[in-house]
Amino acid sequence: MAIGSVTGCFGRPLMNMWTSLLGRFSLGRLSRGGVRALQRQGEGWRPWMPMGCRWRQTLTAAPLPQGVGSSIRQVQVMDVERLVQVNWEDGSHSFYPFVWLRDNCQCPVCTLHSAKARSLLLSQLDINTTVDRVTLMEPSTVSIVWPDQHTSEYDADWLKKRCFSPEARRAQQEELFLNNRVYWGSDLQIPTASFEEVLHDDKAALDWLMELRKVGIVLLKGAQLKQGQVARLSQRIGYLRLTFYGHTWQVQDKLGANNVAYTSGNLSLHTDYPALHHPPGVQFLHCLTQAHQGGESEVVDGFHVANQLHWENPEAFHTLSTLLVDFTDSGADYCDFAVQSKNHIIDVDCDGQVVRINYNNATRDSILDIPLEQVQPFYSSLKAFVDLMYQPKNIFTYKMELGDVATFDNWRLLHGRKSYVSHTENLRHLEGAYLDWDEVMSRLRILRKAIRGET
Ligand SMILES: [Zn+2]
Repeated sequence: MAIGSVTGCFGRPLMNMWTSLLGRFSLGRLSRGGVRALQRQGEGWRPWMPMGCRWRQTLTAAPLPQGVGSSIRQVQVMDVERLVQVNWEDGSHSFYPFVWLRDNCQCPVCTLHSAKARSLLLSQLDINTTVDRVTLMEPSTVSIVWPDQHTSEYDADWLKKRCFSPEARRAQQEELFLNNRVYWGSDLQIPTASFEEVLHDDKAALDWLMELRKVGIVLLKGAQLKQGQVARLSQRIGYLRLTFYGHTWQVQDKLGANNVAYTSGNLSLHTDYPALHHPPGVQFLHCLTQAHQGGESEVVDGFHVANQLHWENPEAFHTLSTLLVDFTDSGADYCDFAVQSKNHIIDVDCDGQVVRINYNNATRDSILDIPLEQVQPFYSSLKAFVDLMYQPKNIFTYKMELGDVATFDNWRLLHGRKSYVSHTENLRHLEGAYLDWDEVMSRLRILRKAIRGET
């Protein structure tokens, strides 16, 4: 929507009418520097606006959330809309609902600062609260006195970060979750970093996690050739994710394998563990011994391929993102297990963005809980998706070297392995571990804050 739409909403005549009508009730309520001063008529217009136009005005305000040293020129109360309007020195403005401001009072009664958490209970919150007085204490602090004379103070940077304009919200969400990805195919330039540097240097660790989020895979080089390295790397983040395959697991050609990975056969492209309702977000694989012949790794950008499917075959995309498919995994390892799940092959969020791929042909259950007439369309859709992921333009192939630790996004990438010739005297051996994105993103935010020098 165009930024200039405000003019369309507030034609002069309309604005003047409301200025004169409402001005007498509320002008001069707001002041600067703690001095109660009447504003000139015309300055104190009450931006009443018809529904549909109202929120368009927030589009004119595009303060980025990372404002440091933000300065406020003026604050205004919009009693009818029950909003506080903050006019910034740079000419932009933000709106904050009364109820949200009261709910987020930063005083020691309403906030437990040692926990950075809200102590105010919803039962204590008047969701229809009005305001008694709003004052701009200084360019960086807004003070509000509520009808019960409770006083709240809000810092300008804090407010700016929480602006409700669509642009500010988008920027804030990107800062928090880093959901902008770089897609790739067979042309991937696989990002690499030094394993030991990532363990010991904060900047290297941050760069690693940023790339992991953005590209979906980073190859760490030079880990010691002994078990335990993926556990060390997990500790750099926080903790690893225990599953029925253990804290860490050994990918080797095993007699009586309890998982298709534990053979020397070809492993078709898959994500790990869709048999869980919450599959592990991140996977580490450390190459301890490599096969002389075969054993190359294959990876595919699942988000990129799913988007291609959406474009080329929207019906198949719709089927795979709406039908719940049964997955199963049973056996014994860390302990005995009988896991069942129902997952979409393609998970999308409420905006239709692909957020997770859940696909492992080995653990896709023969129990298929869908109506009879949807079975054939389901297979057609799945086949279309798998055919796309196997197009040479979409597959990146590489062979892990000794000491490599592949770290990748298991919600995004599909990975596979070419078959290899198994030798007992040189048994191919990878050690793996899982983590979840919550823990990985937590470490990323902490490292970023430290490197930016933020408190
Ligand atoms: Zn309070």
